[in-house]
Amino acid sequence: MKIRLRSALVNPRSGVEADPGLELPGGADPFSRQSIHHLVARYGSPLLIIDAQRVRLQYQRLAAALPGVVLHYALKPLPHAALVGILSAQGAYFDLASNGEVELVRGLKIAPQRCIHTHPIKRDSDIRTALDFGVDTFVVDNPDELRKFEKFRRAKLLIRVCFRSPVAQCDLSRKFGCDPAQVSSMLSLAAELRLEVIGLSFHVGSQTAEPQMYVEAIDYCRSVLNERIHGHQLSTLDIGGGFPVDYAQPALPIEEFCAPIVKALGRIRPNVRIIAEPGRYLSAPAVVAVAQVIGRALRDGKWWYYLDDGIYSSYSGQLYDHVTYAVEALVPPGEQFPSVLAGPTCDSIDVINEHLLLPILRVGDLILGRSMGAYTWACASNFNFFPRATILALDHGRLIEN
Ligand SMILES: *Cc1c(COP(=O)(O)O)cnc(C)c1O
Repeated sequence: MKIRLRSALVNPRSGVEADPGLELPGGADPFSRQSIHHLVARYGSPLLIIDAQRVRLQYQRLAAALPGVVLHYALKPLPHAALVGILSAQGAYFDLASNGEVELVRGLKIAPQRCIHTHPIKRDSDIRTALDFGVDTFVVDNPDELRKFEKFRRAKLLIRVCFRSPVAQCDLSRKFGCDPAQVSSMLSLAAELRLEVIGLSFHVGSQTAEPQMYVEAIDYCRSVLNERIHGHQLSTLDIGGGFPVDYAQPALPIEEFCAPIVKALGRIRPNVRIIAEPGRYLSAPAVVAVAQVIGRALRDGKWWYYLDDGIYSSYSGQLYDHVTYAVEALVPPGEQFPSVLAGPTCDSIDVINEHLLLPILRVGDLILGRSMGAYTWACASNFNFFPRATILALDHGRLIEN
């Protein structure tokens, strides 16, 4: 007997029939071809599908690889309520950087004590909004920023230190962080201003290829944490984000990546609270993108397929994030031909991949992009008025409402 509750309610906004029962057969993998065809038939395309179970597995795997480290999900790569809700239920903490991100977690009734604000450069209104919500930990990296907190004395501060990473795909130490040589003068100024500094933070960059930079940064921070400097005894170390995932190029398994980091953390005196700010690692592999072929043309011996998603939208990470996503056509196997996947806009740079071998595709065929949960939807635009992908979050066959 098939038990499938259906109500006749229709969501007036989307026109989609509200279904209190299962969206997919219980236990179905939301990333299977069958599930994807079902979801596109029901919700159209382009889609980004979040699998709650994969989010949990990413969180648990990173937590196991970094024992004793408190994981604050950095919302930036995918600031979506469903994802934040799934992580919150897992016990995750959060890393916020803007008023919009504060509003998102506030709306989900997440305890502010589980959040830190890590943008090194803030307006007074950013500080005030976060403090009003109840967040009390902030990041500073220069004397002007420290002085902003003279008005907000209850804030606890982390000093962000920069360690240049030649191997990170996105080197964030170019834009933020004070030189290690300036930490002492920052602590001295904080003491003078009677501000409370509780620790150090760093962010070595995103999609870091190897862990050496974390180890060097931790070893430097350990020397500061061991001393009492200008009256401050620091008790928190924030090792940032940057943990890598597999794209078209595979990354180190996370256990192997984290082993030297854990070893370096083991040299720090006990009673120092260690936190991290993973973004990409938690969100990227738990999401696939689904686009549809909307037209095709044979140009200079190559098949060009035009999709309803592209470089200005879910695939924007190929520009901003310097990533090449693994894509595949959800069609039966067949003879393969040199092919190009292009986005829907009228702009010539809107090309996803020019060097693919694909079977002959037809209008309506689906293209799957893997590991598309970080810096995709978050950076997408609706250039040319092509709408961004619809996000669907599924948990064991059930659609998570937002
Ligand atoms: C972007 C960012 C993160 C997340 O980085 P990932 O590489 O996605 O893990 C964490 N902390 C800060 C301060 C960031 O700016």
